[in-house]
Amino acid sequence: MVDLDVVVVGAGFSGIYAVHAFRSAGLTVKAFEAGDGIGGTWFWNSYPGARCDVESKDYSYAFSPELEQEWSWSERYPAQPEILRYLSHVAGKFGLWPHIQLNTRVTGASWDAATASWAVTTSDGATVTARYFVSAAGCLSEFQVPDLPGLDSFEGPWYHTARWPKDGVDFAGKRVGLVGTGSTGIQVAPEIAAVADHLYVFQRTANFAVPNRNRPWEEAEERAFKSRYREYRAEARESFLGVPITGTGRPVLSEPPDDVQRLFTERWRAGGGMPFLGAYTDVLVSQEANDVVAEFMRDRIRETVDDPAVAELLCPRGYPVGSKRLCQSDDYYAMFNRPNVSLVDIRSTPVESVYPGGVKTSADSYELDSLVFATGFDALTGALFAMDIRGAGGVPLRSAWAAGAQAYLGVAAAGFPNMFIITGPGSPSVFSNMVLSIEQHVEWVRDCVVWLRSRGHATIEATAAAQAEWMEHVSEVANSTLFPRADSWYVGANIPGKPRVFTSYLAGCGPYRARCDAVAAAGYEGFALGGP
Ligand code: NAP
Repeated sequence: MVDLDVVVVGAGFSGIYAVHAFRSAGLTVKAFEAGDGIGGTWFWNSYPGARCDVESKDYSYAFSPELEQEWSWSERYPAQPEILRYLSHVAGKFGLWPHIQLNTRVTGASWDAATASWAVTTSDGATVTARYFVSAAGCLSEFQVPDLPGLDSFEGPWYHTARWPKDGVDFAGKRVGLVGTGSTGIQVAPEIAAVADHLYVFQRTANFAVPNRNRPWEEAEERAFKSRYREYRAEARESFLGVPITGTGRPVLSEPPDDVQRLFTERWRAGGGMPFLGAYTDVLVSQEANDVVAEFMRDRIRETVDDPAVAELLCPRGYPVGSKRLCQSDDYYAMFNRPNVSLVDIRSTPVESVYPGGVKTSADSYELDSLVFATGFDALTGALFAMDIRGAGGVPLRSAWAAGAQAYLGVAAAGFPNMFIITGPGSPSVFSNMVLSIEQHVEWVRDCVVWLRSRGHATIEATAAAQAEWMEHVSEVANSTLFPRADSWYVGANIPGKPRVFTSYLAGCGPYRARCDAVAAAGYEGFALGGP
């Protein structure tokens, strides 16, 4: 006797929607969530300044027209607390709370061929069995703290932004060191600088950031927008990034330079990363085109930052703009004009050690009261490997993916029957509006399970051949762009020893959806189906 139809790992945007979707299809489902609240990435990353850089109107569920009409976002870009309120509202509205078990981490899952089910173990010592095992554990869940010699000896408190204390941290009067200048570091830094005695930003790699131009969402604007929300969502589904963007449709290199400067200036003033990089067609495929954008952005840094030496250090070099995640901030660069902020170049003078009173680089020592790490995540595979997942024949997922993650359509792995990964490696996932991609995956998996039941199939498993062909295609598309050129978390370069594989599908959300739908329409082509 199998306990449930579906076990879901995690209660972030994907887990919450998965619970709703499976329940609505008449399936029994339970989600296990490690946190003591729902929200996933938005639950854990509660550092000051945490805000989504996809607009609220896009970064929200599309499955319920009633929900999208009744919920009002207060700002163009939603801040972390507002996203959590939204998700709580969704869980309450659709009656999901009884099906989510908080404070419970999934520790392992083993496929049992005899009963065609998964045995899922949890941190409370329980085991539950389910026909289907669905990971909604997130792409950026396993956070990374650098292995700095002497960190244990540091006398002050240190924090990682992905495990921020729920009661907040008071930096007033403190000398704070911040390591990490990615999307997170760039958001948290100005918040710390506003209150700290002094902020030292330890920068290994400078990052490109476009302005947000965040602002309140006015009622009249909201009303007008909501009157055509359905049409807008339909456009988003067919779009490249999961957000409708109007580009020129022309290569930057074919345009008169004055026109290019004018358009970039307009888009810089309007704010937002996607419209900026999406203005021309060749920015992410041609280095020469990319250089035009990069230089425009470096000029904006130079005109913002008073000290030319600091400005030059903040100017990113050595990788194409966009090939590391483009950051967004309204105040990061200007923050370096404050007298209580210093930029420390740890590329040319690396951190040698942490001592009880601070951080020592090869050039200097910095007396610190607190340290903040915004040093990122073991992306895409980290959360999956944190569980002991064993597929057919007891093979661990870790072994199956030792040379790099492999998943057919980015949703199912060969050797792991009846297991699905929401926004897994090989799908558009982190290269798209995540909420849209989550909904697409969850709905595809739900429809698949309903279809299997209607046909009396007990099992489904991606074939090794279909998976290999898909991953080859993913890599071919990636290699036609500039993305693999950067040492980014996109290729696993931030995790020592991780195989360098580019595992996101870059052909766009619309074409990807069409491919998934075609696979389903062909009776789940590329999957082996088992009998009752
Ligand atoms: P990240 O992009 O991986 O950045 C990590 C930063 O830490 C980088 O500056 C990295 O430098 C530095 N770092 C890592 N290890 C280090 C070490 N040992 N010594 C010195 N520096 C080190 O991580 P993140 O900023 O948390 O962002 C991760 C992703 O989360 C983003 O790309 C984005 O997709 C998402 N995110 C989104 C938002 C938003 O929507 N606004 C906000 C935050 C995060 P190197 O570059 O030299 O490796």
